[in-house]
Amino acid sequence: MKIDINKISLEGLTLEEQVNPSALDLETDIVKFLGPVKIKAEVSKITNAVTVTLSLSGSIHLNCSRCLREFKVDLKKNLRLNYQVNRAEPIIDLDQDIKEEIILDYPIKPLCNPDCKGLCPKCGENLNEGGCSCAIT
Ligand SMILES: [Zn+2]
Ligand SMILES: [Zn+2]
Repeated sequence: MKIDINKISLEGLTLEEQVNPSALDLETDIVKFLGPVKIKAEVSKITNAVTVTLSLSGSIHLNCSRCLREFKVDLKKNLRLNYQVNRAEPIIDLDQDIKEEIILDYPIKPLCNPDCKGLCPKCGENLNEGGCSCAIT
């Protein structure tokens, strides 16, 4: 997303965009997007400072680190970014900052459920779907 500071009026500027996750290089081995990232930006300018209030949303697929099952997570983040006005460079490119903010929230050890029972270390059965025959009685 790019903002032209000359287009920010006194009332501010609202921009909405849907970005392909691959354009921001957001996908990793464990994080897959199910659609575009929706970005809404409310931009205001006061003398030499530009403030951007962002709402980011999207849906991602993660693999549970315990049971290896794929599960869906809604990604939602609100944040505020500040930029200095530079007359020589009237376009502010937000992509790198947006990318960093999204990646910052990726879980290191994703869990499909905080109580996920994981896999049986003996037979590999998913213990969330009922016990296996090696369960201790
Ligand atoms: Zn799990
Ligand atoms: Zn088992």
